[in-house]
Amino acid sequence: MSTPSDIVIIGGGLAAAKTAEALRENGHTGTITIVAAENHLPYERPPISKEYLAGTKTLDDATVHPAEWYRAHDVTLRTGVTATAIDPSAHTVALDDGTSLPYNRLVLATGSTVRRLPGVSADNVLYLRTVEDADAIAAAFGEGRRLVVVGGGWIGLEVAAAARNAGTEVTVLERADVPLGRILGNRVAQVFADLHRAHGVDLRTGVEVDEIVIEGGRATGVRLAGGETIDADAVVVGIGVTPMTELVQSAGLAVDDGVLVDQTLRTSDPDIWAVGDIANHDHPVLGRRIRVEHWATALNQPAAAAASLLGTDTPFTNLPYFFSDQYDLGCEYVGHAAGHEENVVVRGDLGAREFVAFWLDDARHVVAAMNVNVWDVVDAIRPVITERRVVDPARLADPDVPYDEL
Ligand code: NAP
Repeated sequence: MSTPSDIVIIGGGLAAAKTAEALRENGHTGTITIVAAENHLPYERPPISKEYLAGTKTLDDATVHPAEWYRAHDVTLRTGVTATAIDPSAHTVALDDGTSLPYNRLVLATGSTVRRLPGVSADNVLYLRTVEDADAIAAAFGEGRRLVVVGGGWIGLEVAAAARNAGTEVTVLERADVPLGRILGNRVAQVFADLHRAHGVDLRTGVEVDEIVIEGGRATGVRLAGGETIDADAVVVGIGVTPMTELVQSAGLAVDDGVLVDQTLRTSDPDIWAVGDIANHDHPVLGRRIRVEHWATALNQPAAAAASLLGTDTPFTNLPYFFSDQYDLGCEYVGHAAGHEENVVVRGDLGAREFVAFWLDDARHVVAAMNVNVWDVVDAIRPVITERRVVDPARLADPDVPYDEL
């Protein structure tokens, strides 16, 4: 493979910034151009639904690199610009300012776009993806104000926690029986349901939203399928995200729930790589395809992609990882339960919200784990998953058995 001179990165988030960093660290001396739709330096999103929303962190705290870093590393950062088309045969990217960029290698780090409720438009129906979205949501917080959150996923629950901490009256509407049940299984997810109820959230499960009630251009409430209307001063909708693959699809790359990439994060085009939310990755350790919409993937995939792109094939082997903070609960999750959500072994005390949950497959391999208010265990748990040890559930549940003796 020839050494590329011009590298273009489409996307302005963590994955894009880390790709530029890894390319320079791997000795790339040619040009690097980042095409970023948002009008900001690339920033990390986890604080946007946590500390930034709570007012304890600023955008500067969340910024990946200061402006000076891009100058010092000769990385051209074009903010407020959107890529509109890729021409793989001409090796060019068209931009919405009418210009086009040539590339030898292209990295796609376009991330996700929020799923919206169809046909609903009001300035107090809010979504959370960007820092501006967080500003609008934080402005709806306060004593005596009523916030209805549609969707009890990570966004919904983290927003609910920040809103309650600010004294807001919060109702969360979740159509499943338990929020996060699809990810954690009902037994562990119930811990989160109990947590929110203990903090005064009116958590309604098994409910369908019929309509956002809009009067005079503003949402005044949410009507449920049974006919009840819950009054609201603002509505936050957190019903998932969609990988931004339109650009890629029109360029003719293979797409199936994200952009299909091989173990080294290379797409079906030999000169194009993909990282972060959009990458549907052939994971060498898990032995199957997986697409992960979490911070750690955007943080870590770029190093493997950059090395591969510069000629040293580097499979990405990290297990999926994410964390969440809600009230006084902090948790980390590693691995992927993938259909085994209800097959859980608990070490510790679910009721006290201090435990490690392990998910097992049918052959008693640990496939995922989550530590809740228990710290410094992830590094010890990772090998239990990657080495595919067959575990004894009784020993797994026993806090006196060290992880390396499982
Ligand atoms: P999510 O975690 O996929 O949760 C979406 C929730 O909305 C699910 O509970 C889903 O229920 C529900 N839902 C979907 N359509 C609905 C509808 N029409 N009406 C009512 N409820 C509906 O997505 P998210 O919370 O919006 O978060 C967006 C992305 O950011 C995700 O990829 C998430 O992983 C990521 N994120 C991660 C963190 C973290 O790692 N701590 C924090 C925030 C965001 P069903 O399960 O029944 O479909």
